[in-house]
Amino acid sequence: MSNIQQTLSIIKPDAVERNLSEEIKKAFKINNFNILKEKKVKISKSEAEKFYQVHQSKPFYNDLCEYLSSGPIVVMVLEKNDAILENRKLMGATDPIKAEEGTIRKKYGISIDKNSVHGSDSLDNAKIEIDFFFKD
Ligand code: UDP
Ligand code: MG
Repeated sequence: MSNIQQTLSIIKPDAVERNLSEEIKKAFKINNFNILKEKKVKISKSEAEKFYQVHQSKPFYNDLCEYLSSGPIVVMVLEKNDAILENRKLMGATDPIKAEEGTIRKKYGISIDKNSVHGSDSLDNAKIEIDFFFKD
């Protein structure tokens, strides 16, 4: 049965900085994601804090928000059947060392914090995250 979903993808500062955006976008396209919306932005620390508020009690929260706001990022709305899970699979595990061969994080991630991409983890969060960046 078809289950078309939209998910939010972010190419994080470490990957944008290394000019990997086009290569990462190619990975989405090869894997049959449609890139419905896309923009390059630089967010403030307080915007990053809002975006990652689910993690506010975590020890890495402050560094994470510093990092996401440290340079340009590319945000995209991706569409595909089961897009949320499929994108999580294509990204690989949070820690690039643990990510499977062929995944984006395995190929490009530098470390658990500089892991090149973000992807929504649920239908509810996908909606919230897409609105965060693309609600006009
Ligand atoms: N993160 C980190 N240290 C950790 C765990 C996570 O710096 O020990 C960062 C990492 O960049 C990750 C983000 O926080 O992508 C959000 O964490 P989450 O557990 O939601 O991982 P994800 O959903 O991105 O795989
Ligand atoms: Mg997450």
